[in-house]
Amino acid sequence: MNTARDLPVVDGLRLSADLRALLRPDEPVSDRAGRIHRLPRFFYEVRSWSQAKELLLTPHLRLSELLIVDSREHPRLLEDFPHYVPCAITLLARVLEDFRARVGASVYIAANGGYRSPSHRLSTVAGPHNWASAADVYRVGDTFLNSASTIEKYAGIVRDLAPEITALPYGHLPGESDDHLHLDLGYLHLIPASCDESLPA
Ligand SMILES: [Zn+2]
Repeated sequence: MNTARDLPVVDGLRLSADLRALLRPDEPVSDRAGRIHRLPRFFYEVRSWSQAKELLLTPHLRLSELLIVDSREHPRLLEDFPHYVPCAITLLARVLEDFRARVGASVYIAANGGYRSPSHRLSTVAGPHNWASAADVYRVGDTFLNSASTIEKYAGIVRDLAPEITALPYGHLPGESDDHLHLDLGYLHLIPASCDESLPA
């Protein structure tokens, strides 16, 4: 079966210069509050869109569901392969699978609502989507999350899954949402045991 175990793990600092300029591995960046975080350094290499569509991160979640972006993503990262996605995506997928099990219904991720690179035009400030540790859920089962009652209901369920999970409240200001539920695991770095964190010469 096609699983994340089949994906090569690459050190972003050893990618080509053009990819490093777009993915900015290990670079310090500022979030909306002015706090500094370092972007992810280790990535899974995805060779094709068909591989992403076939690859199950969990029993119910395909890798492609967390990689759907539109033309606001940089063309190289939108259209060309391989794609590179931070390794934290596997833990995000497990949270979404736990969420699905808790609510007993399918969970739908919005376009641009999974991993977005720091070169994506929505990435004006750094946020967990750039770490592949955030998802925007627009629908649970037959329920669209576009009201205070639906968003707050499912935000409460998500927060109860684990203390490290943040679910943004309903609202219209930055740090709130009114047409989806944003959940994240914070600025999560997942470094598989095979990785070497020494810096390239
Ligand atoms: Zn979000």
